[in-house]
Amino acid sequence: MRTNCPTCSSKIQFPKATKLVKCPSCEQVFETKNLGIEKRAWKIAITGLVLCFHYFIPSLFSPVLDATDINFFVLLILLNMIGTPIALYGLLLVIVEKFNRENKFIIFESFGIIMVFYNAYLIFTMGTIS
Ligand SMILES: [Zn+2]
Repeated sequence: MRTNCPTCSSKIQFPKATKLVKCPSCEQVFETKNLGIEKRAWKIAITGLVLCFHYFIPSLFSPVLDATDINFFVLLILLNMIGTPIALYGLLLVIVEKFNRENKFIIFESFGIIMVFYNAYLIFTMGTIS
């Protein structure tokens, strides 16, 4: 694994299982788990994805939700207006971070972005029809 020291930004290389790293330049000790920009990006992405796709959960398990209820649609559209940009921002952060580490495996992230766009498209067209 490679990273930049959070204090002096010098490049540090360490084995993957390392929990604590001591910077050779400034002697700063830091936890490797706190370095994960990608993890933070995923948290943002997942927050957005939950906001976008959460309605699948109640609609799968409860027939009580009335899809023709206008309040349901208003809520759905509002949550998607918030969730869509958050999810896209998070997924793009993950991709940028992966490219920074020269990791080109972004199939899942790309699929996520397509799903978010498709979902937004479905929700907003559904909202205008009904
Ligand atoms: Zn340092």
